[in-house]
Amino acid sequence: MPFAKLGLSPQLIQAVTELGYTTPTPIQKQAIPLILSGKDLIATAQTGTGKTAAFVLPILEGFNRTQRHREQAPLRGKRIRALILVPTRELAVQVTASIADYSKHLELSSMAVYGGVDTEPQKQRLIEGIDILVATPGRLLDLAHQRAVHFDELKVLVLDEADRMVDMGFAGHINKIIERLPENRQNLLFSATMTDDVRALAYDFSDSKMTDLAAEIAISPNIRAAANIKQWLITVDKDTKSALLSHLIQTQNWDQALIFIEKKHGAAKLVDQLAKRGIQADSIHGDRSQAMREKILTQFKSGELKYLVATGIAARGLDIGELSRVVNYDLPFKPEEYIHRIGRTGRAGATGEAISFVAMGDFKNLCAIESRLKHVIDRKEITGFPVRKTVPISILNYVRKSNR
Ligand code: AMP
Repeated sequence: MPFAKLGLSPQLIQAVTELGYTTPTPIQKQAIPLILSGKDLIATAQTGTGKTAAFVLPILEGFNRTQRHREQAPLRGKRIRALILVPTRELAVQVTASIADYSKHLELSSMAVYGGVDTEPQKQRLIEGIDILVATPGRLLDLAHQRAVHFDELKVLVLDEADRMVDMGFAGHINKIIERLPENRQNLLFSATMTDDVRALAYDFSDSKMTDLAAEIAISPNIRAAANIKQWLITVDKDTKSALLSHLIQTQNWDQALIFIEKKHGAAKLVDQLAKRGIQADSIHGDRSQAMREKILTQFKSGELKYLVATGIAARGLDIGELSRVVNYDLPFKPEEYIHRIGRTGRAGATGEAISFVAMGDFKNLCAIESRLKHVIDRKEITGFPVRKTVPISILNYVRKSNR
């Protein structure tokens, strides 16, 4: 089914065609007509499924259709028509870049606001009003308190990566923002996982404000994982991990890898350990400035930097295009995090590889991940790296007792 069948204008079709999109992804096929019909939507879809275009394209289409009326009543100063809330500045930048790509042939404005940078330029740009504002919750509240942005003309609210926003403790901020919005609006929620907390957030805003019952769609991450991503694991002893990683990079000639690590000081240490073996890597974590993170990310995307070590939080919301490989140097605690990480490879049809290092202490986490995947992950042995403590094979119906 081509994009034209989804009810999008020629300018939008032209923009996606120029980006090389030929057919809509499953989430786009389902979400675009629903959003165009004005319905509220709760969608379970992870990064890599094409979810950004799934909400941006119909928002642009809707605004483009009303553009004529707008000439009679232009957007007033400091007003916005759509608000997209995202968990991180990286995702804010990335979503705004996608909006710019998709709206290339339309006369609509968009911008991102996020913390960690000066507010003044953001306030200046908001003065004339903006059609689509992408924001992290904390900075948006600041700007609202300073009366730099008003919501009385808002038509659409999007919560993107709602589960991450909840994980990062933004639920309170989001509720405060929602209280300021007009009741009559369209609500769209996208989340990689549908936890109770995310549902609570969805129903908080839906109960009072949704006129129609929200449509719910789910793109199964497991199906995607099975189709596009080659997953395998190596059981390791903790003290041999950096030697093993260097060995794999060198013997398997890895062109690129995003390497997830648990702690920020561990990230810097690993970069040093790789450097000692002649491998040039860099790291992004919470202690690095925004400018530095952006610089490193640009180098990684361009291929100038081949190996990027990142803590889970710092890597949230990064779009690294055609990523061929992720490595769980440390296995994540939550299955959702595992699925989200591996979803960064094999995007939109490409094949990706996800490799996990699993030590004895990770056994319970491995059980939880494999139970969620409903299959065990292939194990590989690497010659020269025998393990002292073998990790048993998981029990697939594992239920974690406490949530740590
Ligand atoms: P997202 O899930 O929004 O982060 O999108 C993942 C990647 O898929 C981005 O790099 C998009 O540019 C790309 N993409 C989105 N929709 C399509 C499509 N219909 N065909 C090909 N690539 C797409």
